[in-house]
Amino acid sequence: MKYDYLIVGAGLYGAICAYELSKIGKKVLVIEKRGHIGGNIYTENIIGINVHKYGAHIFHTSNEEIWNYINKFADFNNFINSPMARYKNEIYNMPFNMNTFTKLWKDVFTPDDAIKKIEEEKRNYYVSNPKNLEEQAINLVGITIYQKLIKGYTAKQWGKPCNELPSFIIKRLPVRFTFDNNYFNDKFQGIPIGGYTQIIEKMLAGIDIQLNTDFFSNRKKYESLAEKIIYTGPIDKFFEYKYGCLEYRSLSFETEIIDSSNFQGNAVINYTDYNIPFTRIIEHKHFEFDTTSSKTVITREYPTTWKEGSEPFYPINDDKNNQLYLKYENEAKNLKNVYVGGRLGQYKYFDMDKIIFEALQFIEKIKICNK
Ligand code: FAD
Ligand code: UDP
Repeated sequence: MKYDYLIVGAGLYGAICAYELSKIGKKVLVIEKRGHIGGNIYTENIIGINVHKYGAHIFHTSNEEIWNYINKFADFNNFINSPMARYKNEIYNMPFNMNTFTKLWKDVFTPDDAIKKIEEEKRNYYVSNPKNLEEQAINLVGITIYQKLIKGYTAKQWGKPCNELPSFIIKRLPVRFTFDNNYFNDKFQGIPIGGYTQIIEKMLAGIDIQLNTDFFSNRKKYESLAEKIIYTGPIDKFFEYKYGCLEYRSLSFETEIIDSSNFQGNAVINYTDYNIPFTRIIEHKHFEFDTTSSKTVITREYPTTWKEGSEPFYPINDDKNNQLYLKYENEAKNLKNVYVGGRLGQYKYFDMDKIIFEALQFIEKIKICNK
């Protein structure tokens, strides 16, 4: 066999595996069904602006080792994600913080005022054991914020009303009683100056790559090329959906060059009204504090129903799907010489830092087995 490892997918997980394995002398082939490397972190330079082709990607982590690892492949700026949320003709700071509260309620000035106001707002709706996202959200921030900033956005994002969604989804969002618009609580945060694609290019330098190559277009042939396979696509597809299909949420992106130097004044603006079909508009130049180009590039992000053939962007980690995933995970554990990993392989809502952590842990295991 020509290769030690075949890696299916040139996203962040596949690229780290390829880089680390080739560093220890393994011969690696990467195949990628898209026409470019990078998976969902791919950025493309359009009129001098690095465009996040698959939605806003902000690197954030509290793990210093992971921060140091990614910084070997790019210089990061000090971007802090501070999205705004637009609801009809009102605009608010996210995540929910004192800036949001003081703008929403004219009689709120201090953290105590805000806590009191939210307590009042919760009084008529409080549920002691929240069973769904609606109940959880109202318990957390009260009815007004739920109705203006959560209800419509979440229903669009997941294609279901909030009372049919699991509450864990909202736990990603911080609620703060300080005037702090930082979307994340992590110690390290930033955007790679020059985009994310350079990171993957550096990881894959000198490694054989075949683009526009779907593993399933000739599975037998690709399986015969290497002794071991690292598969980073959807796990249910690998097993030909033998236990049934996992559910995903898909997205479509509409990118436009605008003849204005500053379209919205911020990298990310969420549109929380249900009647606006997109969830957010990204203005890419603001990720790199670009104040010189005379034009700008924006992307509208539309959540869509996932069906076979469309991109599975988000796993839907409710109980039903998690149970089904466990069956596939068990099956994968019993395979010899095949390893399934990454956001789709592990069917988890992993951010980039978690992907790096998972990939490096996997490589450590391989190194120990090789000894
Ligand atoms: P992917 O990037 O999905 O890579 C898998 C690759 O495998 C893809 O290129 C795919 O084409 C390829 N592939 C699949 N099947 C086959 C096949 N049969 N044959 C060949 N190739 C195949 N994380 C953050 O940390 N911060 C953020 O701000 C952030 N924002 C996000 C916004 C959106 C809209 C989304 C969807 C994700 C976001 N993430 C963010 C998460 C981040 O994108 C992931 O952590 C990371 O991209 C996962 O890398 P991966 O390699 O596991 O998967
Ligand atoms: N959310 C919301 N309003 C917003 C932004 C987010 O209600 O303006 C909710 C929504 O349910 C979303 C979840 O918070 O799915 C997590 O948001 P995040 O921005 O972390 O999602 P991602 O960037 O991963 O799509």
